[in-house]
Amino acid sequence: MSALLAATEVWKSFGEREVLRGISLELAAHEVVALIGPSGSGKSTLLRCLNLLEPIDDGRILLGDDDISDPRVKADRVRARFGIVFQHYNLFPHLSVLDNVTLAARLVHGTSRRVAEERGMALLERIGLADKAKEHPDRLSGGQQQRAAIVRAIATDPEVLLFDEITSALDPELVGEVLDLVRELAADGATILMATHEMAFARDVAHRVLFLDGGVVVEEGPPAELFGAPREPRTREFLARMP
Ligand code: ADP
Ligand code: MG
Repeated sequence: MSALLAATEVWKSFGEREVLRGISLELAAHEVVALIGPSGSGKSTLLRCLNLLEPIDDGRILLGDDDISDPRVKADRVRARFGIVFQHYNLFPHLSVLDNVTLAARLVHGTSRRVAEERGMALLERIGLADKAKEHPDRLSGGQQQRAAIVRAIATDPEVLLFDEITSALDPELVGEVLDLVRELAADGATILMATHEMAFARDVAHRVLFLDGGVVVEEGPPAELFGAPREPRTREFLARMP
């Protein structure tokens, strides 16, 4: 397997607290990997380090053939190669939904407004939100906002999608529509690393699952194995506590 994204022995501390303690992971093109683990285990920090929103203390991160952990790289250029969606506050409240979706294409990638808007409208149509294109995000439901945030993340054809618990702030009845969109992207061959607490979803969609605890990957494997027959006691305890 030649990895599209490869992290090797990544360390990250905040003050005295070692949050990532030598994490290594690889993501192949078109692979969907779920990151699970207790709150505070370092999932968000890992995702933020991978796309250079946080500097790492030690280790190496390769995206394709590029060492993106080299301090000389331009972080903005690297970030433009990722699409990231967080739990909250994804959309700019003062911009229309369409402007949210097209902003990065226009400002970061230099796409013309016309082309960016054609593409943006096609994406919004695909998720059934074309009629909301001119609205501000606060006119959308939480599920619609997260779907628009996902569409914004894919609008520039990023190489890797990073999703950080994108359904955890949603009312339960809105979770399904967001997970359905992720499922579609996965079926279309997107490369996705997603922190999630939706175990059934991870089991269904991920090709591989990593269980993080205390800043290390305790166990990883195909979902059927990791959920069906976890090897490590810590994994078993964590899964036993899941609803
Ligand atoms: P998870 O996403 O798995 O819940 P996080 O990566 O958010 O875990 O957090 C891991 C640990 O790092 C937590 O103890 C958290 O308090 C700490 N942490 C995260 N971000 C910061 C920060 N910017 N400053 C200080 N501590 C942080
Ligand atoms: Mg988190």
